[in-house]
Amino acid sequence: MNYLIRVAIISFVVFIVWSIVRRAAQQEAEEQRPVPKLTPEVKQSKMLRCDECGVHFPQEESVQVGKKIFCCEEHKKQALQRLSD
Ligand SMILES: [Zn+2]
Repeated sequence: MNYLIRVAIISFVVFIVWSIVRRAAQQEAEEQRPVPKLTPEVKQSKMLRCDECGVHFPQEESVQVGKKIFCCEEHKKQALQRLSD
């Protein structure tokens, strides 16, 4: 009888440890999943180069004046100011 109780306790402990390890592995897998999802989204948007500072940025963030492209409103102003001087 004593032996059976010991076996039951050991099985229970093994089961608890196993479920903790499994949960930790699942969490790790879920944390790693979003990374490959983000990559195609980044690749979809075309990268442009700012005529003022030379920084590369996504097309949807661009500020355009004629053929010139800028990363922000501030750099558009700076470039236009330089042209007018
Ligand atoms: Zn810029």
